[in-house]
Amino acid sequence: MSAQAGFDHLFHTLAPNRADMENAVPLTNENCAAATEGRGIPVDIAVAKAVAIARTVAEIERIPLMDAAGRVLAGEINAAIELPPFDNSAMDGYAIRTAHLSGAGPWELSVGGRAAAGEVHAGRGSRPKEAIRIFTGAAMPSGFDAVVMQEHCERVGDRILVARLPRRGENVRHAGEDVRAWNLLMGAGDQLLPQRLALLAGQGLDTVEVLRKVRIGLISTGSELRDPGEPLGRGQIYNSNRVMIRAMMSGLPWAEIVDYGIIPDRRDALAEAFGEAPRRCDVLVTTGGVSAGEEDHVVSALGCHGGSLVVLKVAMRPGKPVKIGMIGPILFAGLPGNPNAALVTFRQIALPAIRTIAGLRRVGPDWSTAIAGFTYEKRLGRTEFVPVRITGRDESGRPLLEMLGRGSSASLMAMSLADGIAMLPPDVVSIERGLLLSFESLSSN
Ligand code: AMP
Ligand code: MG
Repeated sequence: MSAQAGFDHLFHTLAPNRADMENAVPLTNENCAAATEGRGIPVDIAVAKAVAIARTVAEIERIPLMDAAGRVLAGEINAAIELPPFDNSAMDGYAIRTAHLSGAGPWELSVGGRAAAGEVHAGRGSRPKEAIRIFTGAAMPSGFDAVVMQEHCERVGDRILVARLPRRGENVRHAGEDVRAWNLLMGAGDQLLPQRLALLAGQGLDTVEVLRKVRIGLISTGSELRDPGEPLGRGQIYNSNRVMIRAMMSGLPWAEIVDYGIIPDRRDALAEAFGEAPRRCDVLVTTGGVSAGEEDHVVSALGCHGGSLVVLKVAMRPGKPVKIGMIGPILFAGLPGNPNAALVTFRQIALPAIRTIAGLRRVGPDWSTAIAGFTYEKRLGRTEFVPVRITGRDESGRPLLEMLGRGSSASLMAMSLADGIAMLPPDVVSIERGLLLSFESLSSN
C-alpha cells in the first residue's frame, strides 16, 4: 500500500509533489531500521526533496501596507500611475526655456516667479528671458524645459547670470521616466522589503494582497528537558532548542508559531500531538528523538498517522539523522536534539521548504564568500557546517574565518560566540588556510 493511500482527501492547502511522494518511505518498523543504515544523501539532494514536497499556502489576505513589512506578495502588481506623476525639478535652481536662449553666454535672465515642492507655478504669461526660481521636486512650470543648478549661476538682485546653458531636459525628472502606467512592478513570491514597500507607497497603495502567514508548529521532544525557570532534577537539562528556534522564527515576518512545548519520549504522547498538528499548522518542526535509539520515538509516532519520509539521513555534520516528510497534508521536519544540529538543520534543510510554503521565490540560505583562517581535516563525502568567528577582512572585504568549538558539535558556547556558519564542502578532505568557503551570517541585521 502506498504511503499516501487513505489521506488523499486531506491534500487541500498543501498537496505534495506526486513524484517525490511516490519515492517516500512509508513508516513501517522494517523501513525505519533499514533507513538508519548508510551515510545519507547529499545536503543539496535533501534540500531539493524537502522543497519538492512543500506546497505554498493558498489563502490570500489584504492587509495595510504599513503592516506588510517582510510579507509575501500574493500576485502581480502593475503600475496604476506613472512615476514621477509630473515633470519636476531634480535640483534646487532656476527653470528656464532653452529655446529662448541662444548665441554666446553668459545669459542674463530676470527671475519671474517661484515654485517650491508641492506648489505649481503655471509658467504662462512670463516673458521669454525669464527664469523661475525652483526647488527639488517642484513641478516644472509649463513651457519650461531645463533647470540651471543654483551653483551654476550667479544671482544679482532679481536677475541671474548663467555661464553655461543646460541642455533641454537637463535636471528635469520627466513624468513616467521611472515607471510607466501598467508597468509590472513586482510579482507573486516577492518579499515586501522596505524598498519595495516604498515603490507601492509611491503608487498610492495603502493595502496589499499577501499570502497568509505560514503556521509553524514546534515541539521539543525529550524526557530530560525542562524549560528555563523550572527546577532541574538529576539527569535533566534545560530546553535550549525551544527558545532558539522560536527566536529564528520570530525573525520571519511571514510566519507564526504554534508552540506545543516539551513532549516526553513516549510514542503515545508524540502521536497525539502529531495527530493534532495538521489541524493547526502548515508545517511541524520537532527537535530530538530522530536517531536510531530505542528512546527515539518521533519516527514511529509519525507512522501512527500514516506519515511518510523523503529524507531519512543526510551526509552532513551536525544533523545527520534529520527527517523530512509529511504528516497528512503538512510538512514534517524532525530535527536532531543537539542544539547545534537543530540550528544547522533548521536553517539548511527545513527553512528552504518552509520558505517554499510561505510562497517565497528565493528559498536558499544567503551564502557569501569567506576565507578559511584555519586548517581542518574532514571526511570525504560529508558536508560539515561549523561555527566560525570573523577575525578580519582581506583587501576585497571578504571575511577571514576562525573555526570555533573544534570537534564538539554539541557546544552551546561555540555557537553563541559564532558570527556565522561556514560550509565545508563534501568533496574536500583538507581545509587549508586561504581556501574560499561559503559563509552564512548568524546575525539578524
Ligand atoms: P536526541 O536527538 O534526542 O538524541 O538528542 C541529542 C542530544 O541533544 C541529547 O544530549 C539531548 O539531551 C540533547 N537535546 C535534545 N533536545 C534538546 C533541547 N531541546 N535542548 C537542549 N538539548 C537537547
Ligand atoms: Mg532524545
